Amino acid sequence: MTAEPFRVAVLGGGITGLSAAFYLHRFAERLGRPIRVTLLESSDRLGGRIDTLRREGYVIERGPDSFLARKTAMIDLARDLGLDKELAYTSPLARTTYIVHRGRLHPMPDGLMMGVPSDLGALARTGVISPVGKLRAACDLFLPRRGKDGDEAVGEFLRRRLGREVAERIAEPLLAGIHAGDPDRLSLRATLPQFADLERKYGSLIRGMAAVRGRSAPANLPPEARGRTFLSFRRGLYSVVEALERRLLRDGCAIRFGAAAVSLERNAPDGAPYRIVAENGMEVAADAVIVAVPAPAAARLLEPHVDVEALRRVEYVSVANVALGYDARRFGHKLDGSGFLVPRGEGRVITASTWTSTKWPHTAPAGKRLLRCYVGRAGDETAVHLPDDSLAYAVKRDLRDLMDLTARPELVVISRHRNAMPQYAVGHLERIAELRRQLENRLPGVMVTGSALEGVGLPDCAAQGRKSAAALLGLPAGAR
Ligand SMILES: Cc1cc2nc3c(=O)[nH]c(=O)nc-3n(C[C@H](O)[C@H](O)[C@H](O)COP(=O)(O)OP(=O)(O)OC[C@H]3O[C@@H](n4cnc5c(N)ncnc54)[C@H](O)[C@@H]3O)c2cc1C
Repeated sequence: MTAEPFRVAVLGGGITGLSAAFYLHRFAERLGRPIRVTLLESSDRLGGRIDTLRREGYVIERGPDSFLARKTAMIDLARDLGLDKELAYTSPLARTTYIVHRGRLHPMPDGLMMGVPSDLGALARTGVISPVGKLRAACDLFLPRRGKDGDEAVGEFLRRRLGREVAERIAEPLLAGIHAGDPDRLSLRATLPQFADLERKYGSLIRGMAAVRGRSAPANLPPEARGRTFLSFRRGLYSVVEALERRLLRDGCAIRFGAAAVSLERNAPDGAPYRIVAENGMEVAADAVIVAVPAPAAARLLEPHVDVEALRRVEYVSVANVALGYDARRFGHKLDGSGFLVPRGEGRVITASTWTSTKWPHTAPAGKRLLRCYVGRAGDETAVHLPDDSLAYAVKRDLRDLMDLTARPELVVISRHRNAMPQYAVGHLERIAELRRQLENRLPGVMVTGSALEGVGLPDCAAQGRKSAAALLGLPAGAR
């Protein structure tokens, strides 16, 4: 007699849910344990925020455009899917990132890591910080560690260590590019735990950065990826979603589209511990559930059973981006870098711009140039909701002012992401730990995971999906 399959419902078909479903099959096969995975996705497509548009030879990312090499979960996933040959690497021509200061682009000096100088020379070279601001940042070398334990806001931390100028003119725009967040509300421990660790260990951010700068790359990084900060895929990030979908179908995963999970109940009629009900009336009986949906949807599912304060406190920021394609002959700018960042105080609509065709040569056909401009950050989301014409006009006006770019784009693609970027407020990790404690006691076998919980980056999400799958099947967190 064959054993009854272990029935798992995965809620949400973004990268977290897809990674969870993929590793559930992989681990179960390895353990010789029959499994039946049902993935419920509310929309009519997989991938969540990942959305690549392939048009007229361009590869345009409407959502995320790349992932950190240093956190290797996406590289591992690519390998496990046989997709590692498809990895794309940033061009060496894109070394310089510019930063806007008083309406002009300034190259960011080498030696700044996440906006933090790893040597005093890097600090001395920047034209963005005044002499007094540089002296203040150098005080980081002598200032004592923070006296209190516990979390603090990222902005408070950066001002405390490096002073207001470095915090506001360099670190904040870099962070805004990742979280679209307000540094005075973001949790240091949830958003930049490595910074908190550096202070604890080295007593100084600058000394800490210098110490980790030369540290060798993770051992499992492909040789081509060494020295590159970000990676993508030659045909765009959606390649990983397509590969996951193919693999899940092959493995017998039941993928249900248009199935927004609206309730999670205990004790299904057939004796299964859980029953998921979707808005379209579909019901799924499950032994275990992985909840990988945005925080408001997860809160709604779990609220009847546990205190969901941790999820309710995650606020979302809306962002947009405008991709512009040009004929190179009429372009008139050398695009000699990866793009530019715009500090909040500069009063621009654009928060950052990637010079996509320089940074990622695979994204534009020969003879074309591609830029991507980002709009919207915490406390400043109005531009995201402008009508298309006005948004495109405002972006082009900023490009004219900042880059002297007057060429007419031959392609404009506007992508809006409403309530897309989760913000981890101070105390986030403690609240999440409490939520998980309650889940373990009251809903054993129900896991909540994804970008609202433990990291917004694609590698964080892929890692969370994998970790949830491992935990459900009793494997160690690092299983692969
Ligand atoms: C514009 C933008 C740019 C970004 N750029 C980068 C980048 O360059 N690099 C990087 O590493 N990260 C980037 N990020 C972050 C990263 O893309 C996300 O954090 C990540 O994709 C989130 O994955 P997820 O699976 O946790 O959530 P999501 O992608 O949000 O997926 C959740 C899924 O659940 C579905 N769903 C919702 N409610 C229900 C329900 N009730 N039942 C069933 N399904 C439901 C949704 O339709 C969706 O498919 C970016 C994010 C945005 C928005």
